[in-house]
Amino acid sequence: MTAVLELVDVWKVYPGPPPVESLRGVTFTVSSGELVAVLGPSGSGKTTLLNLAAGLDRPSGGSVRIAGSPVEKLRDKQLSGVRAHRLGVVFQQFVLLERLSAMENVATGLIYRGVPGGQRRAAARAALERVGLANRAEFPAAHLSGGERQRVAIARALVGRPAVVLADEPTGNLDSVAGDGVVGLLRELNADGVTIVVITHDERIAAAMSRRVELRDGLVVVDTGSAS
Ligand code: ADP
Ligand code: MG
Repeated sequence: MTAVLELVDVWKVYPGPPPVESLRGVTFTVSSGELVAVLGPSGSGKTTLLNLAAGLDRPSGGSVRIAGSPVEKLRDKQLSGVRAHRLGVVFQQFVLLERLSAMENVATGLIYRGVPGGQRRAAARAALERVGLANRAEFPAAHLSGGERQRVAIARALVGRPAVVLADEPTGNLDSVAGDGVVGLLRELNADGVTIVVITHDERIAAAMSRRVELRDGLVVVDTGSAS
C-alpha cells in the first residue's frame, strides 16, 4: 500500500513562554485506502497534528510526509502546491461561502489547481452527486441544513481527487442524526476508495472507523493498526 501520510518522531513545541510540547514524538503512517480516527481528549494535540498533516504548520522536529513530500523540506510555495493537489480538508464549521451555491462552493476546491471554469463546474456537480446532494446544486449555502452544508464541504474536499481527506471534528456542529449521516457518508466514500483521517474527541465516531490512533499528552498511546 502507498503511504499517503507519514509522521516520523514528530515534535511540535510552541515557544511560549512557557514552552508547550504539544506533540512529543508522534509516529504513524496512513496508507492509501484507510479509514482512520485520530482520537484524544481536549489538549492531547489533535489540532496541532491536524495543522501539520494539512501542511498548515511545520514540525519542530521529525518528519511529516504528505503523499511522499516531506513538509519540513518544502518551501512555502511548494507546500501550497501539495495542499492544493494532494489534500482535502473538512472543518467542524464547514467554512462555506454563504451566498454562493453548493455547486460554486465545491468548484472553489479546484481554483488553486488552475482548472478552467467549465471543468470546475462539471467536476463539482459530480462530487455533489457523490455525496447525495445533486438536487441541491443550485441552492445557496445559506439555505442548506447543517448536515447538507457538511456534505457540500466534503464534496469540496473530494473534488480534486486528493490522496487523503482530513476531517477535523466533522460532526461537531451537527445534531446526532445529521452527524450519523456524515459518518455514514465518510464510510461509504472510504468503501469507494477514498483515504480518510477523522480527528475527533468522540468515542462513537472513532468506533465507526477501521483504525484508531489515540493521542494523550502529545503521544500516541494506542494504534490499532491497519487491517492489512
Ligand atoms: P486538542 O486539539 O487535542 O485539544 P491542541 O493541539 O489544540 O489539542 O493543544 C495541545 C497543547 O498545545 C495544549 O496544551 C495547548 O494549550 C497547546 N497549544 C496549542 N496551540 C498552541 C499555541 N499556538 N501556542 C501555545 N500552546 C499551544
Ligand atoms: Mg482541538
